[in-house]
Amino acid sequence: MQPVTKASFGKTRDGTAVDRYTLTNGNGASVSFLSYGGIITEISVPDRLGRLGNVALGFKDLRDYETRNGPYFGALIGRYGNRIGGAKFSIDGKEYKLAANNGPNSLHGGNRGFDKVVWTVEAQGAGAKLSYVSKDGEEGYPGTLKVGVVYTWTDDNTLRIDYEATTDKTTVVNLTNHSYFNLAGGGAGSIEGHILTINADAFTPVDGGGIPTGEIAPVAGTPFDFRQAMPIGARIRSSHPQTVAGHGYDHNFVLDRGGAGLSFCARAYEPTSGRILTMSTTEPGVQFYSGNFLDATIVGAAGRQYRQGDGFCLETQHFPDSPNQPEFPSTLLKPGETFRSSTTHTFSTDA
Ligand code: BGC
Repeated sequence: MQPVTKASFGKTRDGTAVDRYTLTNGNGASVSFLSYGGIITEISVPDRLGRLGNVALGFKDLRDYETRNGPYFGALIGRYGNRIGGAKFSIDGKEYKLAANNGPNSLHGGNRGFDKVVWTVEAQGAGAKLSYVSKDGEEGYPGTLKVGVVYTWTDDNTLRIDYEATTDKTTVVNLTNHSYFNLAGGGAGSIEGHILTINADAFTPVDGGGIPTGEIAPVAGTPFDFRQAMPIGARIRSSHPQTVAGHGYDHNFVLDRGGAGLSFCARAYEPTSGRILTMSTTEPGVQFYSGNFLDATIVGAAGRQYRQGDGFCLETQHFPDSPNQPEFPSTLLKPGETFRSSTTHTFSTDA
């Protein structure tokens, strides 16, 4: 079997050709992604009876990805995943201003983040490498940032994402992938019945605009305690000020890491299909977002509406607003250093 196939996915509005790549493993399970935004459009994995189904949310057409992807379905996010407060930060006393594209704050890299650029793609091993050079000053960030992202899809139904970046000026970087999952199938309805475990003793509470207050709060005794497996919906309507502030879950969890390297991040189990997603990461945090802003204005690839809570994201990354929060793990990248980050997503079943 040829592991990587490529097909045209049309042209962007400005005429750039976009391809869709499909990685197929020895079980016939597959992952498809676009050169536009590195967007993962489909993850087709077996349920407990061996029936393949697409567990990623997304659109059918390129134009929808270009014009309607406010939710950032499947996209590579950079230069900075999640929010930077006040859309500005300083390095060595020099202030850098970013696009305020989310109230007063900057979200997911600005107006034209890595989700909206066309990446160069080449086959590599059981997968493909995506490359992009972000110019000095692009979206307000200093330094020419050379970025490489490798998607690998192996026979154990593991999607591994490896990120690398270098710069020629000191800058900040925080890369992630914004896939939305519904293990019953994209468009199958609410994800509230998924049973979730997150390996985190603490989370970072936010203000009304989604910016961390700076506190590292214990999850114990709150709706944020997913150390024992819990249905996502069990406490999502709680009156806890943080579930209210987030319109549900939209928070960075501080992972309980077992040293350097890949360490267990989260597990989601969907009882009707029997599908399980298990994730590990090298990152210190994961943004658990319960699809709170999906509002039924979007019809997905399966021809069905996505309503609030019809997909969830587990975005492995450094903490939001780290460039303005010196107590958080640093997101600074200096010339001569290489930024590296890896996350694995393993799809299995309870059968
Ligand atoms: C953010 C949400 C946002 C979503 C889609 C998540 O990473 O935390 O607040 O609505 O991305 O943009």
